[in-house]
Amino acid sequence: MINRNFVRCKVCSQSYTLRIYVTSLNEVRHSFFCYSCAQPISYRITKRAGKLFLRCENNCAKTRHEGMVVNISTEFPIERDIVHTDKIFPWLLLMQKAMEQNPTQTKEWVEQNARVPPASAKPKDFLQQEVEEATRRRVDLKDHWKFVDTAWSLYNDGKGDECFQYIEKNFKKLGYENHPHPRELIGDFLKSIGQKHAAAAYTATLDLWADAWKKNPQECANLIMYFYKRDEFTRTLALMHNVCSNYMLHFDELMQLQWFYLLNLQLTDGLILGSNNFESVRGFYGDTFERYSELLYMPTAIKNIVEGRSFDQLKHIDLETYSKSEKARRIENLKELPRLDHLTSPFDPSIRNATHHARIEFDKKALLIALKKGTKSKERGLTYVQYIDHCNRLFQAYVGLFLFCHEFIHGLENSFGLAHSLGVSLGELKINDPEFELWANRGQADT
Ligand SMILES: [Zn+2]
Repeated sequence: MINRNFVRCKVCSQSYTLRIYVTSLNEVRHSFFCYSCAQPISYRITKRAGKLFLRCENNCAKTRHEGMVVNISTEFPIERDIVHTDKIFPWLLLMQKAMEQNPTQTKEWVEQNARVPPASAKPKDFLQQEVEEATRRRVDLKDHWKFVDTAWSLYNDGKGDECFQYIEKNFKKLGYENHPHPRELIGDFLKSIGQKHAAAAYTATLDLWADAWKKNPQECANLIMYFYKRDEFTRTLALMHNVCSNYMLHFDELMQLQWFYLLNLQLTDGLILGSNNFESVRGFYGDTFERYSELLYMPTAIKNIVEGRSFDQLKHIDLETYSKSEKARRIENLKELPRLDHLTSPFDPSIRNATHHARIEFDKKALLIALKKGTKSKERGLTYVQYIDHCNRLFQAYVGLFLFCHEFIHGLENSFGLAHSLGVSLGELKINDPEFELWANRGQADT
């Protein structure tokens, strides 16, 4: 469904016909640069009872007159050369592209997801029903987040009782039949925003772990104890909360590639996004980079075991030294394994350095980001679409790695975790550590 809105730029009076493709969210804030004077124009789209309402927020006013057409989708990019074309349906073009690039996968997706209107329904009624059904079926991620955010904050602050009471009051609204543990709630939320890159990062880490377990289960158990005794999960949970809050704060901007990820489409030159609020997400990549680099010791430790060393010994240094080393270099040892590409490829120190040290320029007309020369990096450019893709892929890699760690602690504590799935009982290992005994046998006690 495309919603037609008329607005004008308050600075130069250029009028616009905004053809906005319906969003799955109840509310989205967007910003683009006026095609005439290049000043930012922001508006908010709200969905109520299946209808869209546009509210001008910054540098725009509603008008009754048609103007320059701008096609806008909140969830996928559009080819630049059709942005101003009227009477086109970007959604159909997107599906056409998907059929060309991935015919089998797209057909399967359509078969699983498309709904055929009943013969008796008038087309307009069906559309209305479809929107209502979609709204009912899907819990708005932003609403879902408000609830998870509060529970997560209480849990991080050690306010266990308040956290459990808060979940008790609200869990049914989110479709849970039983009261979930806070960690289950957090894991489920991350799975719902995690897409194929998160799943790939998770699977790659899990496969590496399976190899480590085959090689030396005793050393794997030592790694679990290291993780557990240093209370690494509590620290990781707090860091992830920070990044996730940041992601959800800028969700309207960052979610704009989600259909491309869902349909497994290649990002090509000449695509532009409906919203181009670079300033709002300028720091996102660098902030996520910092947090992510702090969790890279986990795949590093597993790789150490796979390569026949103790978990805390890299080829030339120990894990302690590694954990204090320069963040940008912590990825290097993992790059040796091509199977970890989903973990390593989104990690680009030159983007982090440029955004963190203000060596960056944004061209509002061309929607290009220039990363200026640093001491170690060359000057290069990337489109805004590529920047958003980098932000998402890094975030997704972090989610995947986090979910592995989540499983590491949550799954094992509940006796159905990684060790058990590999057919090895923790009890079979000889670990002379009373704390380990206590922990390995605690089962559901923590809940
Ligand atoms: Zn203008």
